[in-house]
Amino acid sequence: MSTYGGIDLGGTKIQAAVLVEEHSVLGSARRPTPTSGGPADVAAEMATALEDAAKAAELKTSELEGVGVGSPGTIEGGNVTSARNLPDWEGSFPLASTLEAAFDCEVAIGNDVQVATDAEFKLGAGRLYSSLLGVFWGTGVGGGLILDGKPWTGRGAAGEIGHVVVEIDGARCTCGRIGCMEAYAGRASMEAYVRRLHEEKGRKTDLFKLMKEHEHTRLTSGIWARALERGDKLAIQTLDRAVTALGAGIASVVNVLDVEGVIIGGGLGIRLGHPFAQRIAEEMQPHLFADSRPPHVHVAALGDLGGAIGASLLLEGDAAPPSAPS
Ligand SMILES: [Zn+2]
Repeated sequence: MSTYGGIDLGGTKIQAAVLVEEHSVLGSARRPTPTSGGPADVAAEMATALEDAAKAAELKTSELEGVGVGSPGTIEGGNVTSARNLPDWEGSFPLASTLEAAFDCEVAIGNDVQVATDAEFKLGAGRLYSSLLGVFWGTGVGGGLILDGKPWTGRGAAGEIGHVVVEIDGARCTCGRIGCMEAYAGRASMEAYVRRLHEEKGRKTDLFKLMKEHEHTRLTSGIWARALERGDKLAIQTLDRAVTALGAGIASVVNVLDVEGVIIGGGLGIRLGHPFAQRIAEEMQPHLFADSRPPHVHVAALGDLGGAIGASLLLEGDAAPPSAPS
């Protein structure tokens, strides 16, 4: 039986998994993404995470057929450039060859959001469709596309749904532009928004108290969910605002592409789950041009491991990995 590794390199965590054919997970491990140092330090943590996952599967990394990596940033021939949210990673870093040396097996690199969308298409909530939009609602809002049964990456930058404009002259986005969906729905933007209202306008909220109680330095998806459970008014209002923006942004993309299914994943998407996917679908409805047949909206079925599972698929089948090193 062939075994594969998959690594999902995120801004807050590195998730690794070892899978056997038919995609069952034999072992998995998770480590926090380094917040200081540089690409070499991040690569070292990725290596440790996969070695831990292999150990849990009672395997050595050299026994794997190969390892797939889902990475942010621009990916060219095994090199990763300008990976946002990762420490000091503006320039080009040879991630594939660095990891190949560590694992003693082949390494292929793909876009993090696209591999997670591919996984949902092949194995998860998108199995029944030939066209699909994956929306990954977390620190930012990423998007992946399957059109006519195939991934669509455009000229390399397709799927940036977080930067669809939902309000002319609107809020400033982390990308520096104005009125992007992510400026309302991205967790980083939501945190900045509530911090401003809390500290400058004196609005009451338990969000930051919960953050300290749980020893976090950021408002994680879990903190947002807990504040909701407590009926925290500012948290409810901020999430309402995010859902409104997601509804407008996703519906606008659906109006152009007319996909059959929309998958909501990402840290917040998975944590808030079905009730929020339902609410996003409701918020989409008034913006849909073909409103008599809206797309089906689902929560990502593969959960937190979806990115790592999708990365492992880069090595499989007759499709050449998009960025396999020569
Ligand atoms: Zn933006």
